[in-house]
Amino acid sequence: MARPMGSVRLKKANPSTLLLGAVLCIFIIIFLVSPSTPTKTARLAVNTASHHLSPPTSPYRKSSRPGELGPPPVTHYKLNNVTITPDPIANQEHVLILTPMARFYQEYWDNLLKLNYPHELITLGFILPKTKEGNAATTALQAQIQRTQKQGPEKDRFKSIIILRQDFEPAVMSQDESERHKMANQKARREVMAKARNSLLFTTLGPSTSWVLWLDADIVESPPTLIQDLASHDKPLIVPNCFQRYYDGDTKKMSERPYDYNSWQDSEIAQQLAAQMGPDDILLEGYKEMATYRALMAYMVTEQADKSLVIPLDGVGGTALLVKADVHRDGAMFPPFAFYNLIETEGFAKMAKRLGWQPWGLPNYKVYHYNE
Ligand code: GDP
Ligand code: MN
Repeated sequence: MARPMGSVRLKKANPSTLLLGAVLCIFIIIFLVSPSTPTKTARLAVNTASHHLSPPTSPYRKSSRPGELGPPPVTHYKLNNVTITPDPIANQEHVLILTPMARFYQEYWDNLLKLNYPHELITLGFILPKTKEGNAATTALQAQIQRTQKQGPEKDRFKSIIILRQDFEPAVMSQDESERHKMANQKARREVMAKARNSLLFTTLGPSTSWVLWLDADIVESPPTLIQDLASHDKPLIVPNCFQRYYDGDTKKMSERPYDYNSWQDSEIAQQLAAQMGPDDILLEGYKEMATYRALMAYMVTEQADKSLVIPLDGVGGTALLVKADVHRDGAMFPPFAFYNLIETEGFAKMAKRLGWQPWGLPNYKVYHYNE
């Protein structure tokens, strides 16, 4: 007759074996429930996406044990817990730096590395056109990424990096300054720029992003404290003054001049001009054929140069621009069409305003554009 083997064995086991078994069980349970020591990997794990379809602002790391994929997770994100405060470092707030890039400048990358906001809280996003120049820029960018993320010191490494290649044609084939800035080329060019920014924004903004810093690929100099300085003003969107260094042949010295004219306060005349325009026409700034008499932040540098002076704006440029992620989450984007006769970053300022978010500018706080 077959007897249940287990019961036989149990009956025969001597008490000391049972005790040993029980002690072993307790050890195993303690091992399973005790929290692992908060090592560097534990900190990383918090910021790591659990699935490759998770928002890309968190890097996804493949399971080290192959075949252990399990079902796709359902993830809850509590947006109310994502703080957006004037003290983003103390509150460990995540920053997404977004750069549309037609050309790669080493000075841009070097300046980016100098930003002293904790790099483990920064995700970088790039979008590059699929042209010969775009290909060259992608190669150069990837070489620097390799150097910083793999070979460089741990503290320089960014949390994650996303590179997008554009799925539409660039508007102006030539990136030469004179060709780029011809008035006739502006609408098509800014339409494409707007689409590039939107593609970049909508594919990278994650649930843990607190701030988005727009930073053009030709910004080669800024204070290392750029992010925390701009954030300290606690404004929905805030733009520094974009200047350019140049050699002054008259004084035989280096000097500087305003570069970006897209940050402005509106004028009666500009509004009257817009009222006479067709719905698809756009107002442009910085062309004498179209005098708008707007008050340009480029010309508002004050004598005392108080860096913390803030002014309300109606249009903003995007060379460097800090935006609270909630402004984008509410739906403010870069219109690639005439929106109140404004396009791209200027249209974005208008859209933010219509959503109840006031744009601001810092006339005396400067960043510098590359000089071609
Ligand atoms: P400007 O400074 O006003 O003359 O504008 P830029 O030509 O410098 O363009 C602004 C930013 O967009 C820079 O970072 C450029 O590298 C980038 N850019 C310009 N054209 C394109 C484009 O067609 N596609 C993408 N993805 N980026 C572009
Ligand atoms: Mn530029």
